[in-house]
Amino acid sequence: MSSTTTDTASSVDVVLIGGGVMSATLGVLLRQLQPDWSISTFERLDNVAEESSDAWNNAGTGHSALCELNYTPQQADGSVDISKAVAVNEAFQISRQFWSYLVEAGLIANPRDFITPVPHMSFVWGEANTEFLRKRYEALSAHPLFEGMEYSEDPAQMAQWMPLVMQNRTAGQKLAVTRSLNGTDVNYGALTSLLFGYLASTPASTLHTKHDVLDVTKGKDGLWHVLVQDLRLNTQRMVKARFVFIGSGGGALSLLQKSGIPESRGVGGFPVSGQFLRCKNPDIIAQHHAKVYGKASVGAPPMSVPHLDTRVINGQRALLFGPYAGFSTRFLKHGSLMDLPKSVNGGNLGAMLAVARDNWPLTKYLIQQVMQSNDERMNALREFVPDAKPEDWELVTAGQRVQIIKKDPKKGGVLQFGTEVVASQDGSIAALLGASPGASTAAPIMLTVLKKCFADKLPEWDAKLKAIVPSYGQTLANNAALSKELREKTTQALKLQD
Ligand SMILES: Cc1cc2nc3c(=O)[nH]c(=O)nc-3n(C[C@H](O)[C@H](O)[C@H](O)COP(=O)(O)OP(=O)(O)OC[C@H]3O[C@@H](n4cnc5c(N)ncnc54)[C@H](O)[C@@H]3O)c2cc1C
Repeated sequence: MSSTTTDTASSVDVVLIGGGVMSATLGVLLRQLQPDWSISTFERLDNVAEESSDAWNNAGTGHSALCELNYTPQQADGSVDISKAVAVNEAFQISRQFWSYLVEAGLIANPRDFITPVPHMSFVWGEANTEFLRKRYEALSAHPLFEGMEYSEDPAQMAQWMPLVMQNRTAGQKLAVTRSLNGTDVNYGALTSLLFGYLASTPASTLHTKHDVLDVTKGKDGLWHVLVQDLRLNTQRMVKARFVFIGSGGGALSLLQKSGIPESRGVGGFPVSGQFLRCKNPDIIAQHHAKVYGKASVGAPPMSVPHLDTRVINGQRALLFGPYAGFSTRFLKHGSLMDLPKSVNGGNLGAMLAVARDNWPLTKYLIQQVMQSNDERMNALREFVPDAKPEDWELVTAGQRVQIIKKDPKKGGVLQFGTEVVASQDGSIAALLGASPGASTAAPIMLTVLKKCFADKLPEWDAKLKAIVPSYGQTLANNAALSKELREKTTQALKLQD
């Protein structure tokens, strides 16, 4: 999708910087809540969804903690803490409700263009891991948000659930698996294009691709002055906005720093890149239908948990394994090697040095990953697919994730693996930093933006927000009946019955 229209005014209500899933979600939400506001989106690449939101640049998991073991840490007393898993699942239910609204309102014609049911499984081996998985299963399956989860240590059952993983596996290994049929694969790139397609079709909305935002400053007139370069014409212009959302993914940190808001001080970023092995053999792809998540290696960042992943991209089944972490100083896949050095300033240097000092296991893990040979990558894959042959798999580079580094009074600086909305006190500008759980939680994260930036409008928007997200203002985790009702409703609306 490329830009076809131009702004007639140099002043708009809302500027969205970046054409990824986050800007798209916020733009569509605002369009529902305030149809009269003018919204301009600027994206520096040829099309929307070409960075992290592109289907091949992420794993497409609808993260709802059904299979990701990093959301259920084991405590010192051996018990399993499910609080993070419950929060991640609840967040995904909000995204499901938002997408269901779009389908029911006719804004998205066919949900199968971006979301497909794919079973989510956790797979472990060894006595200690099996014990952990069993405890995790007992804790989660009793919770309404995780209803229907199954557990097995029986090889015959596992072979039925994941034949490719069980083929030619050494007999006598202690194995355990959980399965949930409520899992999904999401093509966030297709979703982003659908959302921008709708947004661009509404009045007072313009989408400018090949437009690079160079600077964001607060003018004396109280408006944000957004300096934009048209990369086709090589011209610059200023667009003024009442509200700016910096949804530029890995590019968000530098624009946030340029905004000069006090909330941006002391914040730094640490990029972790990802690679996958992609299966080239259609016979093998056809033998697997699940997202199978394992346990992370020691020192691995939470988002580097290995998984064997059925993908559905443009109606075609695909199979990925990874991610293998990498290191690059780029903050975006199409970014510059100078991104990391340029992001360091007097305000965040101390925090960044403290993080480098305190995160030796992560550093060691990244060095190991970067140094990995093809044989080592294949051996990691063979833990999931014992029969894997190098000629059936190719290495592909995925997107960049920039983890947040923040000042910490005790440690000097801490590395955070979550997502954070940083907003000015007057709510006139907000940026999204971090990328985990990521695109899955775009809708709840954008509800946070609304709360932080449009608190005075919320009473007026309340009824509409409840129409878009029926659980808005309530907690599903405490309400088994509502949780079941909305899961069934969204399953139907999103055509998630297999
Ligand atoms: C390897 C990997 C695996 C992942 N797996 C999952 C997963 O399984 N499930 C999940 O939910 N999430 C996953 N994620 C995270 C998810 O991809 C991101 O959270 C999400 O795509 C971020 O969306 P965004 O809109 O913030 O950023 P992006 O999609 O990166 O969009 C930002 C846009 O801003 C543009 N831009 C940047 N700077 C400027 C500028 N100055 N001017 C104009 N435009 C600019 C960029 O070109 C880009 O198009 C994964 C990420 C990675 C890297």
